[in-house]
Amino acid sequence: MKPAIYPGSFDPITNGHLDLIQRSLAVFEKVVVAIAANPGKEPLFTVEERVALAKECTGGMERVEVVSFPDLLVDFCENAGITVVIRGLRAVSDFEYELQMNQMNRKLNNSIETVFMMPSEEYTFLSSGIIKEVASFGGNISCLVPPPVADALKIKFDGRK
Ligand code: ADP
Repeated sequence: MKPAIYPGSFDPITNGHLDLIQRSLAVFEKVVVAIAANPGKEPLFTVEERVALAKECTGGMERVEVVSFPDLLVDFCENAGITVVIRGLRAVSDFEYELQMNQMNRKLNNSIETVFMMPSEEYTFLSSGIIKEVASFGGNISCLVPPPVADALKIKFDGRK
């Protein structure tokens, strides 16, 4: 079994991400959750907040490490000596972007392989983006994110728990 890197924005981490981490632990020796410090999107949570939430939510999981990375994923993988990248596929709509990323990463470093995993069907519609949208209008997202994330969203949007 090899170690693997699970990269993303994790803005914030959801039950869908956690489902994928659990599945990956059954296949890989160790899972490094790698949080992009500067994702293309404008994040709601700072990188420090995203790392702290991911650490809190994976705190009980052995063989999981949470880190942030500053720039290119392939450079981070090379420095960490890890050649497997995990990405999630929820629906056909994820495919095109993931294909493009995969091909680009191969051009940059052909020794890195991406492995795609699918979540439990209850999380196929779940994204950090939809969580933030619903939470911003005061909707109840507590069954879709871990409790520390639900609290952090309340604080971001209402200024209180
Ligand atoms: P990015 O900003 O790179 O899309 P995200 O933080 O949104 O990163 O997600 C990281 C990875 O986790 C992506 O491969 C994404 O497809 C996957 N992912 C996110 N939510 C889910 C979910 N509900 N089920 C399965 N995979 C998911």
